[in-house]
Amino acid sequence: MPSLLERYASFLPITDRTPRITLGEGATPLVRSLWLERETGIDEVWLKCEGANPTGSFKDRGMVVAVAKALETGSRAVLCASTGNTAASAAAYAARAGLPCTVVLPAGYVAVGKLVQAIAFGARIVAVRGAFDAALAIVRELGESGEATLVNSINPHRIEGQKTAALEICEALGDAPDALFIPVGNAGNITAYWRGFTQAHDAGIARSKPRLYGFQAEGAAPIVRGMPVADPRTVATAIRIGAPASWAGAVRARDESGGAIEAVSDEEIMDAYREVARHDGVFCEPASAAAIAGLRKRASVRATKDTRRAVCVLTGNGLKDPDTARSLAGELLEVDATADAVRRALALA
Ligand SMILES: *Cc1c(COP(=O)(O)O)cnc(C)c1O
Repeated sequence: MPSLLERYASFLPITDRTPRITLGEGATPLVRSLWLERETGIDEVWLKCEGANPTGSFKDRGMVVAVAKALETGSRAVLCASTGNTAASAAAYAARAGLPCTVVLPAGYVAVGKLVQAIAFGARIVAVRGAFDAALAIVRELGESGEATLVNSINPHRIEGQKTAALEICEALGDAPDALFIPVGNAGNITAYWRGFTQAHDAGIARSKPRLYGFQAEGAAPIVRGMPVADPRTVATAIRIGAPASWAGAVRARDESGGAIEAVSDEEIMDAYREVARHDGVFCEPASAAAIAGLRKRASVRATKDTRRAVCVLTGNGLKDPDTARSLAGELLEVDATADAVRRALALA
C-alpha cells in the first residue's frame, strides 16, 4: 500500500523535494456498528477507527506532513504542546526523521499510555502546572525563536494531513455520508474534515457533503458556550481544552455544513465508551466516545431522522488510557488454581 504522502500527494502541500517519510499512517478501518444502527434507527452507522494509526490516534495523519515539511525546510527540531496524543505522534515521527522533539504537557492530565509513548520515542518532556491552553501559549512563545518547528495543529500542514481521513471515508463509501460525528478539542480535526469533504466533493470523489456534528465535554465546552473556559474539566483528557486554537475553523465547518456543535456529559461519554467496546468490540479512548455519545443524544430526540448514513470518528485507541478502562471494573476475583474454584467464582461473578 503506498504511503499517505504518496496516495494523497495531489491534495497535499508537498513537492518533489518533500521526504516521503511514513510509519504506515492512514488507511484505517471503517467498521459498521450494528449496535448503533439498532439503537438509533439509522440505516448505516460506521466507525472510522483512527486508533489503528501507528501511534494510536489520528494525529499521525497530520504529523507525517508536518515533520516531512520540517525536514524539507531544514528544521533542526520539533516542538509541541499536547494533551498526550500530539506528543506521542510528534515524538514518533521526529524519531523516524532523526530530529529532537520537545513536548510540553499539562501536569497530571495526560493518559499514561500517551506519556509512555513520548518517553519511549525519546522526547524531551516538560509538564507544566496548568491546562493545555497554557502549554500551547508557552510553545508558541518558544517557537518564535525559530530554533524548533511548532507541530501543533496551528501548523497548517497538520490540518492538511488530517483531512485525508475525509477522503478515505468518501472512497470507502463511494460518497460522503449524510452526517459525521466527531469530538472537538482544539478543533483542528473538525476543521480538517470539512476541508477534506469539500475537496473530495470538488474532485468528484463525492457527490455530496456531510453535515458535521462536533461534540465537546460539558465541562470543557467553550464553543458551545461562546466563550473560553478557564478551568476545563472532563474525564476525556484529549478534549480538555478551554480555548480552541481552531475555533473559527470549527464554527465555519458547523455553519457551512449545516451541522452543530454540542456538549455531552462525562456520564454520556463514559456510557458510550463502555457500550461501544461491549457491543462492537471497538475499544476507543474516552474523548473518541464523545462522538458516539453525541450521535446517541441526537438520535434520542429524533434529530437524526433525515440521516441514512452516519460516520463516527473514533479518534484514538482505548489502550492509551488504561486507568480509565480499569476503573470500569472493581477488584478481580482471585482463587485457587482449580477448575472447581473457578466454577464457584464464576457463579458469583
Ligand atoms: C487530539 C484529539 C482530539 C481532539 O481533536 P482536535 O483536533 O483537538 O479537536 C480528540 N480525540 C483524540 C483521541 C485526540 O487525540
